[in-house]
Amino acid sequence: PELNGDGAEILMKSYACQRRTPLKHHNAFLTEALEILAQNAEFNDNEGRSVAFRRAASVLKALPHRVKSMEDLRCLPCLGDHSQRVIKEILEDGSSREVESTRQSEQFQAMKALTGVFGVGVRTADRWIREGLRTPDDLIRTGQQLNRAQQAGVQYYSELQRAVTRAEAELIMAIVEAAVNSVLPGCQIQLMGGFRRGKEVGHDVDFLITHPEEGKEEGLMSKIISWLEEQGVLLYQKTTRNSYVERLDGPARSASNMDRFERCFSIFKLHSSASRSGSASTSESGSACDSGCRAVRVDLVVSPFSQFAFATLGWTGSKLFERELRRWAGQEKQMTLSSHTLYDSKQNLYLRAQTEEEIFAHLGLEFIPPSERNA
Ligand code: ATP
Ligand code: MN
Ligand code: MN
Repeated sequence: PELNGDGAEILMKSYACQRRTPLKHHNAFLTEALEILAQNAEFNDNEGRSVAFRRAASVLKALPHRVKSMEDLRCLPCLGDHSQRVIKEILEDGSSREVESTRQSEQFQAMKALTGVFGVGVRTADRWIREGLRTPDDLIRTGQQLNRAQQAGVQYYSELQRAVTRAEAELIMAIVEAAVNSVLPGCQIQLMGGFRRGKEVGHDVDFLITHPEEGKEEGLMSKIISWLEEQGVLLYQKTTRNSYVERLDGPARSASNMDRFERCFSIFKLHSSASRSGSASTSESGSACDSGCRAVRVDLVVSPFSQFAFATLGWTGSKLFERELRRWAGQEKQMTLSSHTLYDSKQNLYLRAQTEEEIFAHLGLEFIPPSERNA
């Protein structure tokens, strides 16, 4: 069995939602390599292969020590032949040829650059690459047809590439609080996603909003958006209505993990402190971003109070942790977990919960705090 430094046996559970995965771990030199292969598999639309590499990487993130030899991997779950081959090569030679050639390949780099544009998915990027395009600049140069999201994505590309700091997230939190409080007092607003898990930087800032009086949250998003628009905060926004209905016979089978909350994908405009003193941007349309301006991706989600615990769990991440929770629920408990509800197929009923702790208990799992969901 696997021993840690103290000679005590490590029991590595096989689902990521059964384990504690801190943000900082000891095996980034291996997990970064495996995640390149995972990302490449995603670019090739091979989800099964991608998840296999991500699960392997995640197991190494949960190890309390640095992997020094293949011996250290005995008894660990989720490490397939391919992952083991890659790890072995890195341990012996310092790097893996497959990983390095993937990283250097034109296809991989172009996919990374093009899917890095807000609003661009793998399918679209792939089509553009087959037409000979490689970078966001190529999209402008060749006058590609872009939808509204992609236009914003190209326009604010370099700004959105810059990591969002926790300080910026706090600043945006204050703006969102001001907006929400002025349109509906008494709301609860929670910072979600990577920042809730303790990350210092993120690719966006995620918020979940609810009101303790069920029903009060209806129509809230459009009021929030109007307020933000009046203040000239929004460079882009796309709002989706709530389309969730609870069916008596249990949740409908759905192919995607997308939830059905009222939600807004947006780009906020922040004034960097340098421009604040000047007379910059009297934003009448809110569509410009001058040199003293910072563009940040923001996701807003509104949930009814009765679903708030499920929404909280579903929007905290990590993506792999969420995926593993759902797999655990289905495969081990005959339950269906979503960001709205938990349905027990053996008892044919919805299991209610007011806290994340209650959901873990329903699922027969030890509670894992957000800071240890960095699977
Ligand atoms: P980052 O720092 O890169 O933003 P993150 O963990 O916050 O990392 P996000 O992509 O912002 O990543 O996602 C945050 C959480 O919201 C994840 O747990 C994800 O499962 C959930 N999520 C994101 N998009 C959707 C969606 N369309 N439907 C349902 N849940 C989603
Ligand atoms: Mn996020
Ligand atoms: Mn997000």
